[in-house]
Amino acid sequence: MSTNAFITEETIEPDGNGPLSELTVAVKDNISTAGVTTTCGSAMLEDYVPPYDATVVSKIKAAGGTIVGKTNMDEFGMGGTTETSAFGPTENPAAPGHVPGGSSGGSAAAVAAGEADVAIGSDTGGSVRNPAAFCGVVGIKPTYGLVSRYGLVAYANSLEQIGPLANTVEDAARLLDVISGPDRNDGTTNDGGADSAYAAAVDDKIDTLTVGVITDLLEGADDRVVDVFEDRIDALEAAGATIEEVSLDSLEHAVQAYYVIAMSEASSNLARFDGVRYGTSGGSDGNWNESFAAAREAGFGPEVKRRILLGTYALSAGYHDKYYKKAQDARAWVKQDFDEAFKSVDVLASPTMPVLPPALGESLSDPLQLYLMDANTVPVNLANLPAISVPAGTADNRPVGLQLIGPKFGEETIIRAASAIER
Ligand code: GLN
Repeated sequence: MSTNAFITEETIEPDGNGPLSELTVAVKDNISTAGVTTTCGSAMLEDYVPPYDATVVSKIKAAGGTIVGKTNMDEFGMGGTTETSAFGPTENPAAPGHVPGGSSGGSAAAVAAGEADVAIGSDTGGSVRNPAAFCGVVGIKPTYGLVSRYGLVAYANSLEQIGPLANTVEDAARLLDVISGPDRNDGTTNDGGADSAYAAAVDDKIDTLTVGVITDLLEGADDRVVDVFEDRIDALEAAGATIEEVSLDSLEHAVQAYYVIAMSEASSNLARFDGVRYGTSGGSDGNWNESFAAAREAGFGPEVKRRILLGTYALSAGYHDKYYKKAQDARAWVKQDFDEAFKSVDVLASPTMPVLPPALGESLSDPLQLYLMDANTVPVNLANLPAISVPAGTADNRPVGLQLIGPKFGEETIIRAASAIER
């Protein structure tokens, strides 16, 4: 079934052999592919053809993966339902009539529908984990610095990472093995993950594992989601894990802090789309300001415009301390809370999304409601930690995802725990 998972369906052949030979890979359309359009789900970049491959794309090709297309996404990654795409929404193959989540909704839908074996997404505030949860597949947001972002079109640099999506924990881990590692083209990468073997972590035992359930993230969640989540946690306990309850006071400020920081960074990153350096032209008549405004008026959708305006406001003289600096203080507090929690537990757990996938067209009209949907995923990005979403079951015929969060470079631990849940 076609779900409008792809913006471009053009095959990119591998140029090597390795762990991805025989596998088909779908790549989110904000990740550069030499000679193949990379639109970011935006009319602004409808015709943009990058001259080079992103590092993750080079690595996938070298490892034998066949790229089968570029996937649909919320415009520039701004959204959680894949409905802000200039190329129309994607439908959730696991819950027809509902959104696939976002912003990497096309990547998750492609995997769920069997249109690709594995996929690549990017996660600034949940965009790999959210669609993984909604489509009933596995998604990993790696530790900040584990995966190169060279060739990823930036939305909010201090928050985002590229991550894998797959039908199984093992396939996601295998793809992470391929794409991770330091890159001289991205100075934020480092060798913190050196010596890790993610796919090999899958079969390990979990009877020595302590799992902290984040009670703050259960309070605002839909009861149907909480029921499925708690069943899985009981199963983990039955498999030998120790379960504790953990409360992190800072989390009540996470969504607000995230949106101030993400919009601020976006307002600066998206300045280059002016019809001259990048983007559809605003025409050469008239003066610079008019042409700039015309290009941005025509090229950006309403959600992107809203965020550029709010981000510019938050950074402006007089408001910087009131919004941006305060958000950074809250971010530091979130980091501290996680550090403290990891002194007594190995992994933290919560539902990935506090709600079930909404029906197509249901949530777009209320941006605040959409932002609140990110309550469980954005704290991880603020703290630059790794997290995985693994299918936990269904409620009302819609998938529910369980999120496991690890300490910095604790990918092996969350993969191990996720594979126990999967079993
Ligand atoms: N929904 C969040 C946002 O709109 C997360 C997006 C993302 O991770 N790219 O910012």
